[in-house]
Amino acid sequence: MASAVYYPLTTNHYPPVSSHWLADRTRLFDASGIRKVFDLGAKLKDPINLSIGQPDFDVPEMVRQAAIEAIQSRRNGYALSQGMPVLREKLQAEVDRDYGHDDREVFVTSGTSGGLMLALLVLVNPGDEVIVFDPYFVMYDSLSAVAGGKVVYIDTYPDFRIDLNRVADAITPRTKAIIFNSPANPTGAVAGEIEVRGLAELAAARNVALISDEIYRAFCYGRPFVSPARFNPQTLVVDGFSKTYAMPGWRLGFAHGPAAIIREMIKLQQYSFVCAPQPFQWAGAAAMDIDMTPHIDAYRRKRDLLLAGLAGDYEVAPPGGAFYVFPKLPWGSGMEFVGRAIEKHQLLIIPGSVFSRRDTHFRISYAAADSVIERGIEALKKLAREKPSGLK
Ligand code: PMP
Repeated sequence: MASAVYYPLTTNHYPPVSSHWLADRTRLFDASGIRKVFDLGAKLKDPINLSIGQPDFDVPEMVRQAAIEAIQSRRNGYALSQGMPVLREKLQAEVDRDYGHDDREVFVTSGTSGGLMLALLVLVNPGDEVIVFDPYFVMYDSLSAVAGGKVVYIDTYPDFRIDLNRVADAITPRTKAIIFNSPANPTGAVAGEIEVRGLAELAAARNVALISDEIYRAFCYGRPFVSPARFNPQTLVVDGFSKTYAMPGWRLGFAHGPAAIIREMIKLQQYSFVCAPQPFQWAGAAAMDIDMTPHIDAYRRKRDLLLAGLAGDYEVAPPGGAFYVFPKLPWGSGMEFVGRAIEKHQLLIIPGSVFSRRDTHFRISYAAADSVIERGIEALKKLAREKPSGLK
């Protein structure tokens, strides 16, 4: 009888895992920029926090009650992969009303992020090109790369408008998708109808998938929101409840588009996220009946307060939506400027290089109490005039 051979290991003998276990895709992206800001900020006692990407208002009372009610009535099991009918049917009715497309199906995702990840995984083959407008939301290039795609950046500085000639020039036979986001994070830019229509028609004419991230759809302060899906019925829309109803921790989103794509996304959701949390789907259905206009009006006022405070000291492309302003750095690199903001003024902001290949701007979020925005303005006014000697 052969005796068993075994190799006893003590914890001291484990080889380092990093060198040969981690997949190459972990090196395709890096979260160090934002982490540095959070590490510096964590040391502060009473920071002026203008770095946050979530609303400062509460989930409406009725919606919180609906979530509690769902939990108490034992709706705690797995949801259907495509979403509970109570929410999915309501979303489908809204989409049918807004677009009237024959082939537009909705399903419920685990946040907009979940929808975005599934979209890229079902669309992008290794080596496919994905067009991303720079500055961009941090997940676009990372997730495209994880899916095996090659990211093609289109620079939109200084006004963050989309130049259709540049998009047309960037499209190659390998282009699979364009990711579009209006109102935009980090710039607050809202694309107008001519721009949106042009992009939608260009994508259709060149047979490229258009992914539209509409998470800030409700936060438009001037010109109305326009979806490219109005002009290109094959647009794949990812959207969510995190911002509109202030529930980012509830992980509730949805996606809609051509059934052939949506069905593949649902299939992959079964083997990944499984479903969005069931109780929050019931609450999300209740949220859809609530008018959030008073909160949107409050955010318009916050934007105006911040812009008025920055006037004269900062160069800003006036933002029409979301809850961000993306001014030009008055001096230094992003980390030099943000480092001083944190160390000298306890002010938390994000360097633009986190969202861009350029390091010329920084992001301010005005999803904060007016008193915090006012303290932030005071700090920013001082900061603009504090260029350290020795800096270029
Ligand atoms: N898209 C954009 C443009 C965002 O700013 C965010 C959140 N910061 C998301 C998607 C992800 O949102 P969710 O909480 O729905 O995953």
